[in-house]
Amino acid sequence: MNPEAQTLSATTELRIGGNKLKIKLVIPAGEVPPESLLPTLHELSDLIVDGVEQKVHRQGVEISCKKGCGACCRQHVPVSPAEARLISAIVENTAEPARSELKERFEQAALRLKASGIMDHAMNYHRLSEAETGAMVKAYFDLGIACPFLDQESCSIHPFRPLICREYLVISSPDHCAKLEEEQIKRLKFPVSVADTFSGMDGVSQKGENKYVPLIMALDWTEKNGDEVKFRPGPKWVQSFFADLSGSEIPDPDSAR
Ligand code: SF4
Repeated sequence: MNPEAQTLSATTELRIGGNKLKIKLVIPAGEVPPESLLPTLHELSDLIVDGVEQKVHRQGVEISCKKGCGACCRQHVPVSPAEARLISAIVENTAEPARSELKERFEQAALRLKASGIMDHAMNYHRLSEAETGAMVKAYFDLGIACPFLDQESCSIHPFRPLICREYLVISSPDHCAKLEEEQIKRLKFPVSVADTFSGMDGVSQKGENKYVPLIMALDWTEKNGDEVKFRPGPKWVQSFFADLSGSEIPDPDSAR
């Protein structure tokens, strides 16, 4: 334990989808919100994605996603409450004049969503039937709202982008993403989803429902709901996450060095 930074660290080896992944966990020791886990989960997600990318590359399959292609960044991007708060903090910590520019983009995007008549469905994504979800996703896409972080068709917060963005990689033509031709879009499949696992753990309401926030509503949502944060000791968040990811009990990370 580092007494000054009050963190615990441990290096662990995971077996995921036939790959051995070594990761250093740096965990806040005290009571923290779930977003404190995100730096570690970004790293874990990138390791899992890299492993699958290398595997398909060996099979002669190429990933179509490249820097400068933001074809998927006009789709509905549901993030967890913790990620919505992180997005809000990223914007708040951006230096001017970029901060005001970003806020303006979020505001304009939210106004367009509010005017579209699909706001209720977009905000309650987790409660929709499959048919309703399909209709909402298509209607959202037809609005053509670019993610506020999209700059020259590249992600301006690439190292901090949400987990769902990290796990969205395709092996089909980018043209299908640009037109949302769902039948033709071939997404890379991963043995586990860090995004889904984290959302399930972070966003479960008292009624047991998952909660998601459309990325473009992150600032608005955080302003209204930012205080509803659950604090737990960092090791407990880690324990819950890995138990959910593996579907089994893991050793208590309180023993982390
Ligand atoms: S956060 Fe980045 S990768 Fe995700 S939708 Fe926005 S621009 Fe695209």
